[in-house]
Amino acid sequence: MKVLMNDQITKRNDIIIDIEDRGYQFGDGVYEVIRVYNGNAFYLQEHITRLIRSASELKMTLPYNEERLLTLLNQLVAENQLIEGNIYLQVSRGVAPRSHQFPEHSEAVLIAYTYKAARPLSLLQNGVSTILTEDIRWLRCDIKSLNLLGAVLAKQEAVDAGCHEAILHRNGTVTEGSSTNVAIIKEGTLYTHPADNLILHGITRQIILECANDLCIPVREETFTVEQLFAADEVFISSTTMEIAPVTSIDQKTIGSGTPGPLTHRLQQAFEEKIKTLKHP
Ligand code: PMP
Repeated sequence: MKVLMNDQITKRNDIIIDIEDRGYQFGDGVYEVIRVYNGNAFYLQEHITRLIRSASELKMTLPYNEERLLTLLNQLVAENQLIEGNIYLQVSRGVAPRSHQFPEHSEAVLIAYTYKAARPLSLLQNGVSTILTEDIRWLRCDIKSLNLLGAVLAKQEAVDAGCHEAILHRNGTVTEGSSTNVAIIKEGTLYTHPADNLILHGITRQIILECANDLCIPVREETFTVEQLFAADEVFISSTTMEIAPVTSIDQKTIGSGTPGPLTHRLQQAFEEKIKTLKHP
């Protein structure tokens, strides 16, 4: 497997990560996960735009420009002959003697690699079970930062309960999942938390809003409560790797009919159409 380190594509074993890398010591960096379908990086431009925004919110600059990054990532996918899988990309603030404040001199360190992964087809078809837990994360969840402990603890709670995802709430308002966005359908309208500082502005969430628009499904980017979540006709989670996954239960309570709902299914079909248009490069 080849890895992109700064602007070099090289073998994994040739990479050295410094013990004083701030990504390693402070989680001081940003990342992206990008899906590859049929050899194409899906919505690559949107992921890179979000990466640049996350970096800029942390006052970090990437080691080179956007165009070069797009070229190198496409080259990495091609060199690894990846057909179905993901790209993991992270940028740390760089290497400096350990001290919390920004170093005077440091250069961002960029790493990207790819791995094979099949689509989660049975979960997409049958739905996932979830738990509800408190959102204990910081107040800048819009930044896709390497600090993921709030998400890690929530996901582990879900796994310990035999579930796939933890749905998070702040004082009774549903925010998102530990690694997904959450939407509900009530009486034909789709509700999802507004894209503010309390959630990650998911690329899949954005694609879903496009699909809903195409399908004339009314959308409200409004907060909804835990009570509304349990009373929803349909609930689904979304992410680059989970796509649009129906939620069939939360804390062992059945959602809607307990099977994937009709509007979730229509959105899944519209999403599928977008994947199908991708030709092998
Ligand atoms: N929210 C959180 C907290 C996430 O970690 C993710 C996945 N990175 C998402 C939402 C979904 O974002 P995307 O659709 O861009 O993968």
